Amino acid sequence: MKIGIIGGGAAGIFAAINIKSKHPDYSVTVIEKSNKLLQKVKISGGGRCNVTHYCFDPKELVQNYPRGKKELLSVFHQFQPADTIEWFAKRGVTLKVEEDGRMFPETDNSQTIINCFLHEMEKLHIEVLFNTSVNNIIPENNRFILETNKQNYPFDAVIVATGGLNTSEKFSFLKNTGHTIIPPVPSLFTFKINNKNLHQLAGISVQNAVVSFPNLKLQQQGPLLITHQGISGPAVIKLSAFAARHLADRKYKETIRINWIDSSFDEVLHELGNFKLLNEGKKLKNTVLYDLPKRLWWFLLQESNINEELSWNNLSKKSMHRLAENLTAYNRQISGRSPFKEEFVTCGGVSRKEIDFRTMQSKLVPGLFFCGEVIDIDALTGGFNFQAAWSTARVISDNI
Ligand SMILES: Cc1cc2nc3c(=O)[nH]c(=O)nc-3n(C[C@H](O)[C@H](O)[C@H](O)COP(=O)(O)OP(=O)(O)OC[C@H]3O[C@@H](n4cnc5c(N)ncnc54)[C@H](O)[C@@H]3O)c2cc1C
Repeated sequence: MKIGIIGGGAAGIFAAINIKSKHPDYSVTVIEKSNKLLQKVKISGGGRCNVTHYCFDPKELVQNYPRGKKELLSVFHQFQPADTIEWFAKRGVTLKVEEDGRMFPETDNSQTIINCFLHEMEKLHIEVLFNTSVNNIIPENNRFILETNKQNYPFDAVIVATGGLNTSEKFSFLKNTGHTIIPPVPSLFTFKINNKNLHQLAGISVQNAVVSFPNLKLQQQGPLLITHQGISGPAVIKLSAFAARHLADRKYKETIRINWIDSSFDEVLHELGNFKLLNEGKKLKNTVLYDLPKRLWWFLLQESNINEELSWNNLSKKSMHRLAENLTAYNRQISGRSPFKEEFVTCGGVSRKEIDFRTMQSKLVPGLFFCGEVIDIDALTGGFNFQAAWSTARVISDNI
């Protein structure tokens, strides 16, 4: 059996190693358009490679996938983070867990993962064709011809592991397979908000904000960071992933709501009223409530048209109302997106409907398989994107 794997990234290499380990008699060739393997692994996790996440319940794990949640359940029942940890441990790479569940090689160096893979590939005699770009896959009499920038190669089975491609045109090499491409748009990004006063607070964060797009009925909770252009932080990045498609359709213009303190308007109005009664003579600017950073409190007073020099006894009912509103439902229009440099992925790709997730084989073309980010699957940050790459690749090796 002659197997061609298109793409020498995380998914393609993991598939190659696992197939060749299980079937030493198969010939496995990785076709990579660049002159290097595993380039994203190298830069991933800030150079540390967040390999997977400390989560061993497939039902819980799939909640981290805005796209692919349902389909990945069966995949994770076959190969999940516990298996990833064991796979690397067997090859001498120990993974450690951080407080938030992210798992990295103990060395804190992505090169450890790359070296492990390269060592396995050498041991298993896996062939790699570098600087070879597949331009067309032609299914022909139970086999495939891969047209490349160099020459044509015949294979009995083909695995597509080309990763997330940022335009529909880049999927044109799949045109002869008949597969549907869900148009790619970015996921995992930060939001721009046009407000110079807000930008001046860059670097300030709150630990438990609730950010939402009321029109889209999407909401996330967690740390929020103010940036020079708008807002970022885990809650924002998560929200961007779940809203990725909607926001692209709306050209990244949508009303965002920030609840800085995770409290309800009524509760806060009541608390502000009580505070006023007990602190009549105190100045608003000197009495920072809800453990907010001082400058953020002043900003919210300003946004509520309240003079910070006022004493609490001079705070009108109307002003108190506005302050409670800005603390719990600060509404602003986002004006665009900025890349989240630590990790970004593509929402979109090969339609999930046309893949049998028990085997990762195409439902349209027998002998054609898909793994990794080329599929319309993507996750939140935390090691989940790599886990999807390892798991989908491993399922192929068990079923090819
Ligand atoms: C900066 C950054 C940091 C990240 N950090 C993390 C992290 O710490 N943890 C995590 O879980 N995820 C992380 N991710 C996401 C993760 O890197 C991807 O989800 C993962 O690499 C997908 O693996 P893949 O093999 O499907 O695609 P890729 O890794 O993109 O590999 C695809 C390969 O296919 C090749 N290729 C494409 N088209 C062709 C063609 N026509 N012919 C031949 N070869 C082709 C490409 O050159 C590439 O080498 C990060 C992403 C970025 C951008």
